[in-house]
Amino acid sequence: MTTQTDILVQPRSPSRRLLATYYDLSADEIETHLRAHGGQPFRARQAEEWAWKHLARDFSDMRTLPAALRDAIATDLTFDPLTLERDFEADQGDTVKMLYRTRDGQLVETVLMFYPDRVTVCVSCQVGCAVGCAFCATGLGGLERNLTAGEMISQVIDASRRARARDRELTNLVMMGMGEPFQNLNETLKFVRSLNDPNRLGFGARRITISTSGIVPGIEKLAAEPLQVNLAVSLHAPNNALRDTLVPINKRWPVETLMAAIDAYMKKTGRRVSIEYALMKGINSNDATAIELAQLLKGRHMHVNIIPFNPVDLLPFERPQPADIDRFAAILTDHGVPATVRYSRGLEIAAACGQLRARHEAISP
Ligand code: SAH
Ligand code: SF4
Repeated sequence: MTTQTDILVQPRSPSRRLLATYYDLSADEIETHLRAHGGQPFRARQAEEWAWKHLARDFSDMRTLPAALRDAIATDLTFDPLTLERDFEADQGDTVKMLYRTRDGQLVETVLMFYPDRVTVCVSCQVGCAVGCAFCATGLGGLERNLTAGEMISQVIDASRRARARDRELTNLVMMGMGEPFQNLNETLKFVRSLNDPNRLGFGARRITISTSGIVPGIEKLAAEPLQVNLAVSLHAPNNALRDTLVPINKRWPVETLMAAIDAYMKKTGRRVSIEYALMKGINSNDATAIELAQLLKGRHMHVNIIPFNPVDLLPFERPQPADIDRFAAILTDHGVPATVRYSRGLEIAAACGQLRARHEAISP
């Protein structure tokens, strides 16, 4: 039973219909909603300020709004689409992983990482993922559904509150949680615009990174957007024979097509694209593969982030030895391709995204 107004988003099929929440609505839609309850336009501006600047938890926190109006708008609009299911700390509290429950009972993961010079939030854009990369916990069960922009925003607002509770502010945002942003492109772009909007979160686009497994039409669409966000592409292999086995969409957009789309993106936007490479022992980590990768990327001015593989329950892949990881990176740099090894935070709390959700579902009734 629900008393919510049917403001529908993503009506792809009846079973996939979701009710929009406060964070899904534009400033104009908020104004229309408040007017419908007798609120004047300036009340909408107040509500926006409470939501986006003071990070209100609910309508009841919006103290400058008349109580009757707060009660009225709460009857047919949900404020926050997510509720915290559990949180887990690692790295002496410098990494916090949150597990949220959506209103239709799905689990969503978000990670907050504190560094001396920055605070980064890693956001999910889908429940599950349809791409199904061979090594990824998120892709194991396929796609459950897309998240709405409001569900992505809710993750950032909670992370922001948690940062402020430690006298810090969020500085960076990566879309490297569950899901493929370019298979939920409209909601992802709506989300990024709300982040970017100075009347909303005012988050600089250059501090936002979207990571894709290589959905070429998405890369082309992002190139046509005026947003200055960073793009990272999960390559994981320098040739089609190997990439086909790791990233199934490679059969649709093979390495040469992907690289051509990246070249066009960099030419059009003037921004560099970074490469992600999950390093797996005996799979994509030997010297010959490193040399092939260097040859593919040489002269393209792209930075490679080597992510030593995070073990996933039930999957056979392993992380290489530290010396082998360093050698792989050295081969790239020796060939003139800049590379950095990036160890994931919070391994003991199931850092590989999608794992926490899988484990939680396995142990919860
Ligand atoms: N779907 C997007 C973004 C989310 S995944 C993408 O694939 O790019 C963020 C990064 O983590 C991707 O590069 C992904 O391939 C990588 N990744 C997924 N599972 C991993 C694991 N178990 N160990 C290391 N990296 C992993
Ligand atoms: Fe999806 Fe990215 Fe995982 Fe591949 S690595 S299954 S694209 S979330």
